[in-house]
Amino acid sequence: MICAYCGKEAKGTKEHIISSGILGLFPECYVTIDSERKAVHQGDPLVKDVCADCNNNRISYIDSYAKNFIKKYFTVKYEKDDTLAVDYDYAMIQKMSLKFAFNDLRVRKKDVSFFDDGIKDFLLHEENNEPLKNITLLAGLAVNTSPAPDFMFGNRKLRWGDSPLFLSNSIILNIDYNTGHIALREKMEKQEFENCAFAFVFRFNSLQLLMLCWDKNIEDDILEKNNTILRIQYPYAMMDNTGHSVLPRCTSEATYHNEKLIDVTWGQGLMDEISYMRGTFSDQSQEFFAKIQEEWDKEEKKLAKKHPR
Ligand SMILES: [Zn+2]
Repeated sequence: MICAYCGKEAKGTKEHIISSGILGLFPECYVTIDSERKAVHQGDPLVKDVCADCNNNRISYIDSYAKNFIKKYFTVKYEKDDTLAVDYDYAMIQKMSLKFAFNDLRVRKKDVSFFDDGIKDFLLHEENNEPLKNITLLAGLAVNTSPAPDFMFGNRKLRWGDSPLFLSNSIILNIDYNTGHIALREKMEKQEFENCAFAFVFRFNSLQLLMLCWDKNIEDDILEKNNTILRIQYPYAMMDNTGHSVLPRCTSEATYHNEKLIDVTWGQGLMDEISYMRGTFSDQSQEFFAKIQEEWDKEEKKLAKKHPR
């Protein structure tokens, strides 16, 4: 076997797609749901084309960082109006996102041409800590504002996948506040980004992370235009070299359970209006949801105990 990272001929070892340290933070999520292959299994999602040296020595520093970052901020749930100030090492967040995406794309036999020697070098060398210009990361808080509790959809605290759908306009056309009539847009409008090699979405419990990988030769003004659209049009914080961001909520009742649907900021506002009109945000509803959540938390504790890692 040729190692996917160093390119040397070696025996393959089991590499976790999402580091096992992160999986270990959520032992209650012990089932892997693979919708693409329509399979549900109890094993961890693995890829087996990485040599022992790369797996255990060279790229494991990325896993340690990733685990600590998720553990520090995102094992807890947040409320609808919360924001969260986070400190991070921007190059490390890039490395973590790239590594997980690379692992996943290989397993699913998708195009990995973006991961050339330059990217692999970036991942293999800890001292190589200059963030890459042609990677954009957006982060936000995933908060369940829908009337459907998490467990209804399989308690999927960790999710990931390529090709999220970036909308260019709201799903809702308008709301008639006199009658309560909601008009939907006839067709969902998709935002295209010039020179985007691929995009990826991650959900780590209460963190939603979007990664856009741009062609290596993307021109500065096109990159700037893309980043401006991303910054202004979506309810996310753009991560950057400052290593400090304030994350807003990036989900609504329409997108919380569907991580690949990326709504525009005003679309999320309209969805919130609907949640509000329906009474989802009323004290009575909130109390009810909190009670259900409390019961579910107890159940999760039992599951975690039953499935130790
Ligand atoms: Zn290797």
